[in-house]
Amino acid sequence: MAAQAFTSSRVVLPGKIGALAVLVEGQRIVGVVPRNDVPDSIQVTDFGDSAILPGLVDSHIHINEPGRTEWEGFRTATRAAAAGGYTMLVDMPLNCVPATTSPEALEAKRKAALGQCRVDWAAWAGLVPENLEHIAALASAGVCGFKCFLVHPGIDEFTMVNEEHLRAALPNLKKTGLPLLVHAELPGPIDSATEKLMQADWRMYATYLKSRPDEAELRAIDLLIRLCEESGCRIHIVHLSTSKALASLRDAKHRGLPITVETCPHYLHLCSEEISNGATLHKCAPPIRSRENREALWQGLREGIIDLVATDHSPCPPAMKQMERGDFRAAWGGIPSVSLALSLMWTEASRRDCSLVDIARWMAEGPAKLAGVEERKGRLATGLDADMVVFDPEAEWTVTPADLHYRHALSPYLGKRLTGKVVMTFLRGECVYRQGSFPGEFRGREYPHNTFSTHKN
Ligand SMILES: [Zn+2]
Repeated sequence: MAAQAFTSSRVVLPGKIGALAVLVEGQRIVGVVPRNDVPDSIQVTDFGDSAILPGLVDSHIHINEPGRTEWEGFRTATRAAAAGGYTMLVDMPLNCVPATTSPEALEAKRKAALGQCRVDWAAWAGLVPENLEHIAALASAGVCGFKCFLVHPGIDEFTMVNEEHLRAALPNLKKTGLPLLVHAELPGPIDSATEKLMQADWRMYATYLKSRPDEAELRAIDLLIRLCEESGCRIHIVHLSTSKALASLRDAKHRGLPITVETCPHYLHLCSEEISNGATLHKCAPPIRSRENREALWQGLREGIIDLVATDHSPCPPAMKQMERGDFRAAWGGIPSVSLALSLMWTEASRRDCSLVDIARWMAEGPAKLAGVEERKGRLATGLDADMVVFDPEAEWTVTPADLHYRHALSPYLGKRLTGKVVMTFLRGECVYRQGSFPGEFRGREYPHNTFSTHKN
């Protein structure tokens, strides 16, 4: 028997929205029924016309702790996540010190996270040339998969891999059944473009954009499709920026290759034509491209070539953004957005005739599948965690520093008018965010991938 019911006229399930009730007992969902079928005996919380979506899952976030907690940490990242409607984060292995490239580093991260989390989390491990022998140990220690870079990652303690390293690693990765996430840009096209821009004005966004041409992504993705085909290993392209790669990705998917793709709210919301010179808050890699490219990414998302949307939330201290100089070459690349992503996405999606069902698929179910936590997260269904976000899709509001909640109140979205606002977030049945406040204790915990006994690896 359910202990309580959460109802609204717009409960978002895979494939449909309806006037339903989510029945919750303890930390789990025990049923989803028509709103009128809720027994009188149980306590009902009715959210009226606000939508109830599954708690979002962010499969691409840089928490940076331990080691760079002054950039971002578990306490601030999970607080911002709760405010953004996220109930599960999967942390990237770099920018923290040590980088998550060994079982010892994973232990250090677990220690750092203890008692500090407002939402649940899990870890990706790094794949670097120096740790190919740790793959099996990291997999059995509970990481969800591995992340690597084909280009310099912007910090020195995490090294990039090349084709040869990947060929050596893929057979071992295949045995784990876990996905390899790849930053898909090759250095060749970037280096030769940058060389021609030595004398250019790096305050201009156009200079930065030229320095990271589509070609760098296209060549990397072609290589990854080849390696995916040869190895049969699950490969995931993180933060796709160029729409020009959609044709070969469509073809690879049609051929049945186990390749998946993500893009980010900034590629779907912003465009290069609207980025002012010197506006280094917009710097990320790969770069934000043209308006036409943005529309083609939306098409790729609607068609299912792009499987999911993750934030690539990657904050830094204000000085690193070089805002006074406005120098795109010197500024840190990374856009924090975990507290705003749902509103950013809904603002754009609702203009393009997409529904909250699509949003839940892109931002909850898709990322949960990638991380292998779909038995517990990402949908409103019996047996899953009672993770929910109450979202007012009609709210119109303007972003202020008080809405950000992460470590430093920096954002290219300050002052933007958005549609749709998170009202409340529930983690395993309990409220962790309510209109600007964070009730309750730090209940978030790690979900080590190896605890999912039903997973087929
Ligand atoms: Zn990233």
